[in-house]
Amino acid sequence: MKSITVFCGSSFGSHDIYKEQTFLLGKTLARQDIQLVYGGSETGLMGTVANGVLSENGKVIGVLPQFLQTKEIAHKNLTELIIVETMHERKTKMNELCDGVIVLPGGYGTLEEFFEMITWAQLGLHKKPIGILNIDGFYDDLINLVQTMVDKGFLKQANKDMVLISENIDDLLDQMRNYEAPTVGKWISKEEI
Ligand code: AMP
Repeated sequence: MKSITVFCGSSFGSHDIYKEQTFLLGKTLARQDIQLVYGGSETGLMGTVANGVLSENGKVIGVLPQFLQTKEIAHKNLTELIIVETMHERKTKMNELCDGVIVLPGGYGTLEEFFEMITWAQLGLHKKPIGILNIDGFYDDLINLVQTMVDKGFLKQANKDMVLISENIDDLLDQMRNYEAPTVGKWISKEEI
């Protein structure tokens, strides 16, 4: 993997561990020569992951919609800042530029970005690994809900298993490197192959 998109909160959250692990993820990406693609802001965990990469002289590409430039204040020290027109363009560009996705704690925006990427993967539109860094069990309830979707017949187990999960950065990156997209998609059953 040469380039990873990180989706995360534009806030810091209520515990220091979110910020600490986010900064460490940034450092780890830089040390492994992996470029960061993210939302381009200096606010919250978004700014923290960028600062982690930059602290190790790594490369960071920010993708920011014009109308958010003042609200999500643009980070001033990025390797490159790409300004786009819309939120949709932002996600398309972030997808184009990466070969894997990591999701950190965040709010609605983070979850929206995560679910769009995983639904695109489920439809076979891309084959990139998507990992949740489950810092301090932040995503436990979401993982339980996804299991309920499987148990109640709304999601295939194979599509659940597409989401890679770990509380540990190195373990998550290893899982992502070894990931192979399933041949069974949402609309194709094993019998039809
Ligand atoms: P949040 O997790 O709500 O703090 O937001 C994290 C990032 O997601 C911010 O850069 C938001 O601009 C972005 N975001 C919020 N809503 C959306 C959306 N509907 N589509 C794409 N990105 C979004």
